[in-house]
Amino acid sequence: MTRRTAVVTGASSGIGAATVRALAAEGWDTVAAARRLDRCEALAAEVGGRALALDVTDDDSVAAFAREVGPVDVVVHSAGGALGLDRFEDGDVEKWRWMFDANVLGVLRVTKALLPALRASGDAHIVVLGSIAGFEVYPGGAGYTAAKHAVNAVCRTLRIELVAEPIRITEVQPGMVDTEFSLVRFDGDAERAKNVYKGLVPLSADDVADVVRFAVTRPSHVNIDTLVVRPRAQATGMIAHREP
Ligand code: NAP
Repeated sequence: MTRRTAVVTGASSGIGAATVRALAAEGWDTVAAARRLDRCEALAAEVGGRALALDVTDDDSVAAFAREVGPVDVVVHSAGGALGLDRFEDGDVEKWRWMFDANVLGVLRVTKALLPALRASGDAHIVVLGSIAGFEVYPGGAGYTAAKHAVNAVCRTLRIELVAEPIRITEVQPGMVDTEFSLVRFDGDAERAKNVYKGLVPLSADDVADVVRFAVTRPSHVNIDTLVVRPRAQATGMIAHREP
């Protein structure tokens, strides 16, 4: 049997990198893609996969990526993130623009570009990293939650449009995961980023990668539609139990 190939965007860090490791451990061929190619190359060398540069906000980069990538059975969209925690009235249009571009339009660009390869697979799977921000809201989160709500709408629409084809669509919606997410959100402020996870055990990137691994290793007729995963100590985006 030929090995299956998984393309993972946002593979230079966090959930994307952990997903590459998890799928490689299952015997899959992996393509690790992100802007920081050096990190993807180190990961590819570690797992025996391939690395390609990809900026999901750039049409030319996505087109070049699609020309290079070859056969694809699964794409895991992990590229994305949040910028800032500003009240709506202080919303920064450029930060909002990036959040929509990376989280939403990135999924559009990469999915469109890879659909011919996914169709050629005959048994394909599109996995999108949404978030609990795709169905919850919290103060200061409007830009990110609006983008992840849009991701949820995109996944549900794709499921309808592709229902007659052998292409599964899974949206994984994690709560708090300890990655570089908060460091990026708070513009490199390590102290502020650390406080997000203070007093509780957050999910690790490996915990979420395990969920992705579960979804893509179900039999072909089984579609894990939407999967919410949170730390035990987190009830909602706003309510978490923290030990002193
Ligand atoms: P992370 O450690 O910051 O990883 C984000 C990844 O996205 C990096 O590999 C980054 O790579 C990539 N990326 C950002 N902009 C990109 C672009 N324009 N083109 C290509 N890649 C890009 O954060 P993470 O927690 O793993 O986040 C992964 C996904 O999970 C995101 O969609 C995030 O919204 C979602 N999520 C995270 C959490 C959480 O609490 N951590 C919770 C729910 C959902 P480069 O900078 O090298 O391009």
